[in-house]
Amino acid sequence: MAANSEAQTSDSLVAVVSGGASGIGAAATAALLARGVRVAALDLKPDEVAAPAVGIACDVSDDTSVRDAVADVAERFGRIDIVVNNAGIAAQGTVADNDDDEWLRVLNVNVVGMVRLARAALPHLRKSPAAAIVNTCSVFASMGVPRRVLYSTSKGAVHSLTLSMAADHVREGIRVNAVAPGAVDTPWIQRILAQAADPQEARDALNDRHPLGRLARPEEVGEAIAFLATPASSGTTGTVLAVDGGIHDLRL
Ligand code: NAD
Repeated sequence: MAANSEAQTSDSLVAVVSGGASGIGAAATAALLARGVRVAALDLKPDEVAAPAVGIACDVSDDTSVRDAVADVAERFGRIDIVVNNAGIAAQGTVADNDDDEWLRVLNVNVVGMVRLARAALPHLRKSPAAAIVNTCSVFASMGVPRRVLYSTSKGAVHSLTLSMAADHVREGIRVNAVAPGAVDTPWIQRILAQAADPQEARDALNDRHPLGRLARPEEVGEAIAFLATPASSGTTGTVLAVDGGIHDLRL
């Protein structure tokens, strides 16, 4: 059977979700589980992964750690059909503020981390009848936002990575897409807001910047990821789906 070419159900599919212990990754994990997908959440904090997902210790900045985690998933579940490349870290400042070590640290997690997980999983995806990769990008990939040069650059690379991988692997039956969230109400944003002089005022201002008038909920991004990861989107590859309350494209 040609991969991704016939109607498939999500039942019996197996997904790996990086950063699956928190925020968007945890929401994507829940949305996949709700579709009958079995999920292994790869995270620095595997103990914080909610059952019935299986938490597996993994640092996406380390190739051996990623390879070991993928081998572990393949052994436990017998297959891997879906990769959700979601683990990422923040960076703030202008080019004057981040030194080489910081650039390499953030790009190593946010960009090369996705490469490592996709590369390790590819042999398994090639055997799947419904293979899909979903990368967590950001609206910052294509917006100029002050003091986010390193983070935005990393997400610009994720955008390019998504399109290039979609082209490379389409004839192997592997679909590659991304989601581009605006601000999402996860522990990540909560940490950033907590640093503000007036966290509530900062939250109100962030809500107002989104045409929908609020941050996205992690579940809204998780649903978009689950759609792109499962056969419901079998006709879609090489897209970046905004889940951003209209912040990227709308001017009110
Ligand atoms: P979060 O901090 O709530 O969760 C991130 C998870 O990734 C954590 O469980 C953490 O332990 C894990 N992680 C971090 N480094 C890791 C590593 N080296 N190896 C394995 N796991 C690691 O963050 P979130 O808001 O859910 O963000 C998830 C993704 O969404 C990131 O790629 C982020 O860039 C992207 N994103 C977030 C927002 C937002 O507003 N929250 C907006 C756009 C894009």
